[in-house]
Amino acid sequence: RSVGVPWINAGILGLSGNVMIFGSDGVCYECNATPEQIQDARSRYDSCESVRKRFLQEEKMPTVQVTSALISALQVQEAVKLIHNQQPATGKRIAFNGLTNGYLVITLQPLDECLAHGTYENIRELPLSAHQGTLDDLFLAIEEDLGQDAILDLGRRFILEIRCRYCGKILPLMRPAHRIFDDELICSDCNKHTEEIGSHTIAERIEAFGNKTEDKTYIKSVSRFSRKEIPRELLKLTLWDLGIPPLHILSASGINGQYKAFELTADCAKVLGSLISI
Ligand SMILES: [Zn+2]
Ligand SMILES: [Zn+2]
Repeated sequence: RSVGVPWINAGILGLSGNVMIFGSDGVCYECNATPEQIQDARSRYDSCESVRKRFLQEEKMPTVQVTSALISALQVQEAVKLIHNQQPATGKRIAFNGLTNGYLVITLQPLDECLAHGTYENIRELPLSAHQGTLDDLFLAIEEDLGQDAILDLGRRFILEIRCRYCGKILPLMRPAHRIFDDELICSDCNKHTEEIGSHTIAERIEAFGNKTEDKTYIKSVSRFSRKEIPRELLKLTLWDLGIPPLHILSASGINGQYKAFELTADCAKVLGSLISI
């Protein structure tokens, strides 16, 4: 949405499934996301530091092949209609219920105050890739456009170190939060000790502890920063090490508040493959 590319989303559950078609403007996925859906997506992460839960109890259900075949076929058909401008069902939800064999098309309503309608106005393509480009390379490009004090928004949290939630020992992590598991927030000594005395899983004990503490000073992390605000060793890390996926678009701002977006365009061939010629 932020770069004006249409999106055809689909989901299945048992004998039912649906396809939602979002255009480059108008109604978006977030306009219709319920608080339960947002909560469900967040449940994979620790509520305190947004690191991943290792011992997540996921509800698993076998896939019904007929539902997945029907829904994916509809999804592809909408994509072909969209590419050839043959009346795609933009802004609609196509719902199929395999139990009753009901099939209906619902018009999705845009939410006026939806927070997901921002778009990148000004994207500069950079000859940088996530796996080879370093943070230093990225800053050089950003500073060219936005000046020496330009602030980069990683769009995710990179954790330098954290104190063990039980004994306070410093644990150097140097990884983005989404590549850290919740049991890594406890040192190996405390982990061993709690395994001996506890009857709950590690994840449950961490969650209970995390909810009680209001103290945020025990963690060193960065997400929006200028070159001067971060340890020098971070500049040598690749963008991938910082949690940035290939072909990503990052935003940065200058000292006067001007914003600009930067794309890791060197990853284009690798990510898009033969689609690049379309
Ligand atoms: Zn929206
Ligand atoms: Zn400890």
